[in-house]
Amino acid sequence: MKVSALEIPITRTNQSRLPEVDFNNLPFGSVFSDHMFLADYYDGAWQDARVVPYGPLSLEPAAKVFHYGQEVFEGMKAYKDKEGQVWLFRPLENQRRLNKSASRLMIPELPEAIFMEGLKTLLRTDSDWIPTVAGSSLYIRPFLFASGNGFHASPSDRYTFVIATAPSGAYFAGEVHVRIEEKYSRAANGGVGYAKAGGNYAGQFYPTQLAKEAGFQQVIWTDDNTHEYIEEAGAMNIFVRIGDTLLTSPTSDRILDGITRKSILELAEAEGIPTEVRKISVSEIVEASKKGQLKEMFGAGTAAVVSPISGYGYRDERFDLPEVADSYATFFKKRITDIQYNRSEDPFGWRYPV
Ligand code: PMP
Repeated sequence: MKVSALEIPITRTNQSRLPEVDFNNLPFGSVFSDHMFLADYYDGAWQDARVVPYGPLSLEPAAKVFHYGQEVFEGMKAYKDKEGQVWLFRPLENQRRLNKSASRLMIPELPEAIFMEGLKTLLRTDSDWIPTVAGSSLYIRPFLFASGNGFHASPSDRYTFVIATAPSGAYFAGEVHVRIEEKYSRAANGGVGYAKAGGNYAGQFYPTQLAKEAGFQQVIWTDDNTHEYIEEAGAMNIFVRIGDTLLTSPTSDRILDGITRKSILELAEAEGIPTEVRKISVSEIVEASKKGQLKEMFGAGTAAVVSPISGYGYRDERFDLPEVADSYATFFKKRITDIQYNRSEDPFGWRYPV
């Protein structure tokens, strides 16, 4: 390996955009910080790790990412506590998952040192961009893509790794009504559903738009084979509470192994909340609804942490979820965000100082 990932040159912008940013009014993921981290893969090695001003990338029209979608990404956040210390949440999980995704798309794995040192150097360079307004954080988007040229449908010989960041406000989704999807699938056995590949998301836009036109905000994906079992909630993992039991689908070829999901399962175990990781059928959910036993459904993911679901549609029927006083969603959201923002102990060692 040519690169010492620890020597990361920094080229600073001479015109910070920070004064233009209204930190009290931040949308999610649409204002970008001053700098980005870059590294390139060529001659068989990742090299040229560097921090440069955020700006356009130069690619030829023949770049393979445009034609064959050879791209994978991650989503994570940095949090600033009351003392101004910056924290990440389980960042090595993202690093490992990025490489798991990369391997599936024939993208060369990125060394852990380049990911972690690049991330830390970027966050230190742009630390003034990490919001302190309650509920805000710096959304981090690491991604890897085929930057080599050729119309031949084969893997590239050049790749680029980028980390760009966006200060983002609290994620308010409003009421979320979901449609249980029976026609379209997000992923299939043997496919790339478990990878965070860009194309997985492009394929979701059309069915999600159809659900929106029918009055729902999001789609609940079911298994592609039978459409009898729920799998994910849009771009989040799904949890269901029947009685006092917390249920979530097992990860598979088709489901992203979410870090929030994993954390919720560990918290539930520590708390003694009865939990089952197993296939959850739509008929079981509908039956529990009819008997008044379906207490909660929520999505789990980095952006919203937990996103409570107010109701769902299945075929021609619509069901509302009740308001529950002892909501698991509220409990998990508080426990996780308290750890992320250093407002509580961190018994699991999830916090990572920058
Ligand atoms: N499923 C999908 C399809 C996702 O895109 C995400 C977001 N990364 C998740 C689940 C949740 O994963 P995490 O908790 O790691 O953000």
